[in-house]
Amino acid sequence: MNYALVTGGSRGIGRAICLRLAAQGYPVLVNYVSNEEKARETAALIAASGGTAELLKFDVGIASETSAAITGWQAAHPDDFIGVLVNNAGIRRDSLLIWMEPGDWHKVLDTTLNGFYNVTRLVLQPMLLKKSGRIINVASLSGLKGLPGQTNYSAAKGGLIAATKALAQEVARKKVTVNAIAPGFIRTDMVDGLDEAALKKDIPAQRFGEPEEVAALVAFLASPDAAYITGECISINGGLYS
Ligand code: NAP
Repeated sequence: MNYALVTGGSRGIGRAICLRLAAQGYPVLVNYVSNEEKARETAALIAASGGTAELLKFDVGIASETSAAITGWQAAHPDDFIGVLVNNAGIRRDSLLIWMEPGDWHKVLDTTLNGFYNVTRLVLQPMLLKKSGRIINVASLSGLKGLPGQTNYSAAKGGLIAATKALAQEVARKKVTVNAIAPGFIRTDMVDGLDEAALKKDIPAQRFGEPEEVAALVAFLASPDAAYITGECISINGGLYS
């Protein structure tokens, strides 16, 4: 079976991606780090719509944990293959750089950037052998433009976009595509507490995006129709920045 692995699939954008890929026929590996209840909800929603889901708990920022979970799954599923990887897990720990504690700098980079490295290496080798694969990295407008108060997050997402472009060129001849997406404001737990009424005045579309709209873009990049798109970073932000 050709599986999709979605990191941070328990909530928000990751959950919507899990549901959308399951609807496209992929059995889905729903990764999460701590929120088991929400991860179970994602799996139950997939099952209720006739799909298949398995939970896979690991912290993408911890190499040993990630490796144990993914190689353990691969050993238990010798005839299966992770054909779609969505590196979606991410956090923000905002503050001005002058006040930023080392822990907040490192945690954000560990999750987004080391998480990309830890997960992708393990999933990539079988893709190269099979000459088939789709890797989609969830970056951010913050990684393109840079946002004040987010030097850690902007650095992590900007690094992820650059890594996407580099890896795409390494693996294109093996028919593995690697793309990034850069969402603007999307309505999830991550933007809880932001002043939506004030912020949406600056968005040409005059609203925040929905996780399902991001999932539709990821599903397209995962599809056969996107076979000739690689090394791209596609914005999805209601016109806020291009
Ligand atoms: P969210 O609602 O806060 O969900 C974050 C997800 O990431 C959860 O499933 C969480 O798992 C998981 N996660 C966090 N740290 C992890 C780790 N170390 N290992 C494994 N999983 C981890 O966030 P979201 O808004 O859906 O964001 C998803 C992605 O989109 C992130 O990369 C974010 O940076 C990006 N993004 C979001 C927006 C936005 O406006 N929402 C805009 C641009 C980009 P638990 O449930 O177990 O905590």
